[in-house]
Amino acid sequence: MSDKSPSEGKAAANKPAHFIQQIIRKDLDSGVAEQVITRFPPEPNGYLHIGHAKSIVLNFGMAEEFGGACHLRFDDTNPAREEEEYVQSIKADVKWLGFQWSGPVRYTSDYFQVLYDWALHLIKAGKAYVCDLSPDQAREYRGTLTEPGTNSPYRDRSVEENLELFEQMRRGDHEEGSRVLRAKIDMASPNINLRDPIIYRIKKAYHHHTGDTWNVYPSYDFAHGQSDAIEGVSHSICTLEFEDHRPLYDWFLENLPVPARPRQYEFARLNINYTITSKRKLKQLVDEQHVDGWDDPRMPTISGMRRRGYPPQALRNFCTSIGVTRSDSVVDVGMLEYEVRDYLDKNAPRAMCVLRPLKVTLTNYPVDLLEQMHAPGHPNRDDFSERVLPFTHTLFIEQEDFREEANKKYKRLVLGKRVRLRNAYVIEAEDVVKNEQGEIIEVLAKVIDDTLGKDPEDGVKPKGVIHWVSATHNLNCEVRLYDRLFTDPAPGSGDKNFLDAINPDSLQVLSDCKAEISLAGAKVNKHFQFERTGYFCLDSKYTSLDKPVFNRTIELRDTWAKIQQQQ
Ligand code: ATP
Ligand code: MG
Repeated sequence: MSDKSPSEGKAAANKPAHFIQQIIRKDLDSGVAEQVITRFPPEPNGYLHIGHAKSIVLNFGMAEEFGGACHLRFDDTNPAREEEEYVQSIKADVKWLGFQWSGPVRYTSDYFQVLYDWALHLIKAGKAYVCDLSPDQAREYRGTLTEPGTNSPYRDRSVEENLELFEQMRRGDHEEGSRVLRAKIDMASPNINLRDPIIYRIKKAYHHHTGDTWNVYPSYDFAHGQSDAIEGVSHSICTLEFEDHRPLYDWFLENLPVPARPRQYEFARLNINYTITSKRKLKQLVDEQHVDGWDDPRMPTISGMRRRGYPPQALRNFCTSIGVTRSDSVVDVGMLEYEVRDYLDKNAPRAMCVLRPLKVTLTNYPVDLLEQMHAPGHPNRDDFSERVLPFTHTLFIEQEDFREEANKKYKRLVLGKRVRLRNAYVIEAEDVVKNEQGEIIEVLAKVIDDTLGKDPEDGVKPKGVIHWVSATHNLNCEVRLYDRLFTDPAPGSGDKNFLDAINPDSLQVLSDCKAEISLAGAKVNKHFQFERTGYFCLDSKYTSLDKPVFNRTIELRDTWAKIQQQQ
C-alpha cells in the first residue's frame, strides 16, 4: 500500500506491540476473527485534524499489518451539519496521508433502510417504543449518575400503536422534537446510556446523500454498531469517550438479526499542547476568520499541515511514535515538530534564500563577470542534483549577517573583517553606504582572491559562513514565517476562552525576499531547506506566476525549547 519507506516499517516493527495489536493477534490466533476489518468513520462536519490522523494511522495501519481491510465510512446521520465539501476534503486527506480504503467509500446513509427495518424489528419484539416526553421532561425522567431514572408514561404502548406512530413519524406527520423512538432497556441501569436511549429522531432536513427521502434519522448509537455489522467489521476502534456506550453497542447487536458480530475497543484520544483538536473550535476559528480557512498553515488540520509543508511520512511517524494506550495524556507538540524536522533534514534539497536583503557590492569583482558556483543538492545524498549558483558583482546577504562592530561571538560579516560566502569566496567588508536615516543600505566589500574551497593565502581566516544570492540573478519571492497559533500550552482549559490565547504574531509576511535562481519553477509542496533559515515549501494558495510564496514549514532547530529553558 502506498509510499511507505522501508525505515518506517522498521520503526513500527521495533516497537513492542500495543494493546490493540495484541488483541487482534489473539483474535486471529483463536479464530474469534478470520479477517481483520477496521473502519475510519468520520462525520463530514469539518476538516480532519491531527487527532484524526492518529485514528487513521491506527485503523488503516492495523488492516495493513494483519493483511485485512479498512473501510472509509462517512457517519452521516446528522443532515443539519454535514456538507459535501467536508466529504471531499476528508477523502483527499486520507489519500494524502498515504492510505487507500478498501472497496467503495461507504456512508451510514447507505444503510438507512436496513436500520429502519431493524427499528421495526425492535418495536415488534417489544424492545422499542415511541415516546412523547418533551426534551426537558425526558431529562427529568432520565435520573442522574447517582439516582435511577423513571419509566416514561409511554413505555408500555402496544406494538401496534408504536408501529403506527413510527410510520407516521417517517411520513413526516409529526413535528420535530414532538416524539422520538427509544429502545426499551432499563431506566434503573447505572449506565445512563442504557436508560432507554433514543434511537430515532424526527428531522425534516435535506440530507446531502439521501435528499428528502427521510423524516427520521437514527442516532449515532443506533447506527454505528449496526453499520459495523453490515460491513463485517471485526475490530471497531474508537476513542475512550465511547467506552460507556459499549454496553449499548453490544445490546443492539445482541437484539437484532445482524449478519456479523463486531467488537468495540477504545483507545485514548490524541491531545497535543499548544494545539486545538476540537472540530467545533477549529470551525469557530474559520467562521470568525481568526485564520485564513481550514487549510491555514497554522491550523492543526491535515490540510493546513499539508499546505504548511509537513510531509505525510512525518505525520505517520509521529502517530506511530506516540503509541496507542488507554490512558489520556498530552503529547508535546515538539514531538510532532521533531518528526517533521527529522524527515525534512534527510529529504529536503538545500537552497539559499535571503529573507531580509542587504546589498553587497564587490568592488574588486568585474561588473560584467558571472561565475557559476557549484553546490550539492544535499550534503549526504548524491541522488540529489547539484545546484549552480551565479556569482556576480552585486549580491544580497541577510541584514542580520552584517554589523559595523561586533564582539567575538558574532561569526558573520563585520566591517574590516572576513566571512565566507557559502559555496563561494571569502569576502572582506571595507565600507558601508547609509541612507538619510542612518540605516545601512549597502556594504562595500572585496573578494579575497583564490579562496574557492580554500582559506586565504595570507592566513587571515574568515569568521564564519553566511548565505547569499546574486543581486542580479535571483528569484524574487514572498516568504511567510509562522509561529504557534496559541501562546497557552492548554488553550481554553478550565474556564478560559481559547480565543484569548491566540498568538497575535503567529504570521509574519516578508514580501521582498531573494531566493537562488534554481528555485524558479519549483513545484507546490516540494520541500527545501533554505540554509540557515529553515525548511520551506511553495504555498499552494498564494503562489502566482509573478511571485512565488514560500511557507516556512519549520525552523531548523527548536527555538521554543530554547526560549522556555531561558525563562
Ligand atoms: P465530533 O465531536 O464532531 O464527533 P470527532 O473529533 O469525534 O468530532 P469524528 O469525525 O466523529 O470527529 O471522528 C472520526 C474518528 O476519529 C472517530 O473514530 C474518532 O474517535 C477519531 N478521533 C477524533 N478525534 C481524535 C483524537 N483527538 N485522537 C484520536 N482519534 C480521534
Ligand atoms: Mg465523533
